[in-house]
Amino acid sequence: MPQTVTYKPIAKVRLYVEDDLASDTILTLTNKHHHYVRHVMRVEKQDRVALFNGAQGEWLAHIETLGTKETTLRVIARLRAQTASPDITLLFSPLKKTPLDILVEKAVELGVRRLQPVICQRTQAKRLGVDRLKAGIIAAAEQCERLDLPTLEASIKLPALLEAWPQTRLLIVGIELGPTPTLASLLQALDPAQKISFLVGPEGGFSEAEQAYFARLPFVRTVGLGPRILRAETAAISLLACWQALCGDWEQRPVAR
Ligand code: SAM
Repeated sequence: MPQTVTYKPIAKVRLYVEDDLASDTILTLTNKHHHYVRHVMRVEKQDRVALFNGAQGEWLAHIETLGTKETTLRVIARLRAQTASPDITLLFSPLKKTPLDILVEKAVELGVRRLQPVICQRTQAKRLGVDRLKAGIIAAAEQCERLDLPTLEASIKLPALLEAWPQTRLLIVGIELGPTPTLASLLQALDPAQKISFLVGPEGGFSEAEQAYFARLPFVRTVGLGPRILRAETAAISLLACWQALCGDWEQRPVAR
């Protein structure tokens, strides 16, 4: 009979903070953090809160005081040492708001280290909504219990990206039409130490000129994701999930408590 392990979060609330984290220190939550713990999560004194800042691991804290405008926490002890997510970058064309929020949230859950918006010839979305995306990144990192935050890089035009591309890293591009190897066959043939990044195109796909450019670049590999046309966010999620299943960190498991 396989051992059943009941996994339950160590704390009622998990928060990303920008403060330094150390034992027996007091943190004061104000504004949105105070509102969230007080009025959304309705914490009580001595309730447990897990804290992380992206650099010093995860720490356990207790609610010390509950005020009208602020909540204080006493930081108790470190629960987990800092670890970095796999060295994987997702490059994507900005999309309309909802699909872009989905793409970013799922990429965080799937452990990307970097998010790189790329302006392609058929990119329709004019604004990225950086503040909204950064808030979504933090919320997704809090929920999935990762210890680091992926970086959201500044948008770059596709030609400039390709001209400056580091030759040591492969760029795997999802192309929905034409003869392309499957992602599984490509990943299984790679040296495990080979660094890679994924690129998915805009709602209208890559232009013929962009695809011809890809064909001339030695560091680009194009891959197919089956016979159906996937939405960009679906393609991004599929690329990352397949990579995780074959090459990533899925052999690790959430820390059972
Ligand atoms: N050209 C598509 C059409 O005719 O509707 C639209 C592009 S699709 C919505 C957005 C992006 O997702 C593509 O540029 C590609 O990167 C990726 N994609 C979608 N389906 C794919 C597939 N079957 N194989 C590989 N990539 C795919």
